[in-house]
Amino acid sequence: MAKLVGVLALQGDFEAHAKMLRSLGAQPREVRVPADLDGLDALIIPGGESTVMTLGIEREGLAEPLRDLVHEGTPVLGTCAGMIMLDREHLGLLDVTTRHNAFGRQVRSFEAELDVNGVPGGPMHAVFIRAPWVVDHGPAVEILSRVEEHPVAIRQGNMLAVSFHPELSGDDRLHAMLLGLS
Ligand code: GLN
Repeated sequence: MAKLVGVLALQGDFEAHAKMLRSLGAQPREVRVPADLDGLDALIIPGGESTVMTLGIEREGLAEPLRDLVHEGTPVLGTCAGMIMLDREHLGLLDVTTRHNAFGRQVRSFEAELDVNGVPGGPMHAVFIRAPWVVDHGPAVEILSRVEEHPVAIRQGNMLAVSFHPELSGDDRLHAMLLGLS
């Protein structure tokens, strides 16, 4: 049976993730309220605006159910603002502190070829849009890739987080890795 993968759909580019999941043979489900989390094999928190997403999570009472899901071991992928949502100051699931818009206002968006540990088949084509990076992390966090020494792809147990937007570059290898964890 196809894997059921939730995509947090309060705000942001959740549709591009759903499309990529479908192309990998998984079944996406838009997550807006806690009941949408029932029975998921994996979850994606997309990019967007972390401030808006935080308000939506509060409004819908999603914080505790999201934490429970991840604590139960469900694999999760956070991209860009999704990485921020998982950090110490937001959902408190990843043992990291992130810096918003870390590449500065001049360098709002750029693309790069990035080697990501655990992703086979050569560098990933990574699209960065007002991206965060990790400024501090605990010992359980594995750094999978860096840009100018700054961690931009990490793993902590069942959680994967990247500063960039794999769903926009047509490179589905991180999504495949998430499905492999589930
Ligand atoms: N800068 C945004 C934020 O702080 C993240 C941007 C993105 O997700 N593309 O939420």
